[in-house]
This record gives sequence, C-alpha cells and structure tokens, in this order.
Amino acid sequence: MRSSYLIWSTNDRREPPVPKSRKPLQEIITKLKTFYGSPRPPKTADPFEMILLENIAYLVGDEQREEAFDALRDRVGLSPVDIVTAHDEKLLEIAHRGGMQPAARVEKLRRIANIALQEFDGDLKSVLDLPASKAKRALKKFPSIGDPGAEKILLFTRTVPVLALESNGLRVLLRLGYGEERKNYSGTYRSVQEAVEPELKKDFDWLIEAHQLLRRHGQELCKRSEPLCVECPLQLDCRFYQESVSSRRRARQ
Ligand code: SF4
Repeated sequence: MRSSYLIWSTNDRREPPVPKSRKPLQEIITKLKTFYGSPRPPKTADPFEMILLENIAYLVGDEQREEAFDALRDRVGLSPVDIVTAHDEKLLEIAHRGGMQPAARVEKLRRIANIALQEFDGDLKSVLDLPASKAKRALKKFPSIGDPGAEKILLFTRTVPVLALESNGLRVLLRLGYGEERKNYSGTYRSVQEAVEPELKKDFDWLIEAHQLLRRHGQELCKRSEPLCVECPLQLDCRFYQESVSSRRRARQ
C-alpha cells in the first residue's frame, strides 16, 4: 500500500516550498522503494521467455500481459519448438488474451521461434556469453527488441550491469534533471544513461529494482501528461517540479 505524500498542491493557499537540489540517484531510488514497496521479482529472467513476454500482448496492463504469457506456457509451452509446432487456432486464442491485433502477434511469435531455431540453435543462453555489444546486436534481431529491450534482457539475466530504461523510467529521470531531450528517442535515451552512469550502483539487484521502480513511478504518478506531482515523494528533488513552481511564482508576482 502506497503512503500518502502530499507536500504542496496547486490549490494550497501557502506559498509553494522552495525546492532543494536533486538528491543522488541512490537516495531517489530508496525514496521510491519506501513509497511503493519492494517490486515483485521479474516474471522471467530467461532471454527467450522475456522476448515472448514482450510480444505476447499489445497496449495492455502488466496483469493481462502476464495472463496471456501464463496461457502460452500452460497450453503451448515456451520453447521455440513448442511455438513452431503449435496449432494456429491455439496461438490465436492465446494472442486474443493479449489485446488487439492478435493475428499479427501469432505471426510474431512464430517469427521469434524461427529466429531462435535458425540463428541460435533454439537456445538464446549462448547469446549471453557474447561481448555486450554483440549480445545486444543478436537480441535486436527479434521483433520489438531495440536497445532498451536488449539492455533489459542483459540486465534481468544478470549478464551486464546496465540501467536499462523503458519509456516511463526514461521520462522520470529526464524530469528529475538527468540528461536532455534530443532529436530522437535513442539520442535522449543515451543522454539520460550517460547522466546517471556515475551515480549507479553496479549491483544487479539494485539495478533491476531501480528499473522497476522508475517504471512504476512513470506509470502511476509521473505520467506523460499531467503528472501527479502533488502526491510525489520526489517533489523537492525534481527539476520539472522546480520549474513549474518557479513559473507559478512568476505568475503570482
Ligand atoms: S514531482 Fe512530478 S514531474 Fe517530478 S518526478 Fe514527481 S511526478 Fe514526476
């Protein structure tokens, strides 16, 4: 259960608090952990299963995605051979559980299984023995896996201690003041990763939790539009919040 954390709201008659400078990243992650609690362990840390989990659903919440993944495991199996030899109707019924465009996802699941069989002998664990840059290149051969997805696999499999970020976590760190918006997503992603690098704990447990907590924060409070700053435990550490306080002060003068 999340604790209430109201510091100041736009309806407040008091002057807004004067923001302080941002705390080190490790303190920020500790604050998020205190606020949200410890994240659940990842659903899977197997590289092939992580790719299936990413592709089994589209634009649905975590719970629905995991239900579709469980159905795939229970009714078909999670090996490349299981998926290649499964009946279309069965895969389609499972893909329906993962939201819209189920037929396209069946095709993707088949493609994933075929890539795994043809290029990696059906076992992606061999990819994890490659140097990091080659492992990333290999993982990016699969649908829906770009740099962030490949880095997440390398992190969750405890292969490379990198702070992989999906879009929610990236947005939170940008608003806190790490890195800057660049012309494209990958430029912004690199900018944020370079900015946080000196503050990272090179510890897999910490990095995995940081990934999960930043993602959850971006999903629940630090939303893309209209972030709920009034409830946020990071209010006083946040550049975005500082800037909105400053503009409100100027508007009141
Ligand atoms: S204060 Fe607002 S913008 Fe900053 S991290 Fe919290 S929710 Fe996001």
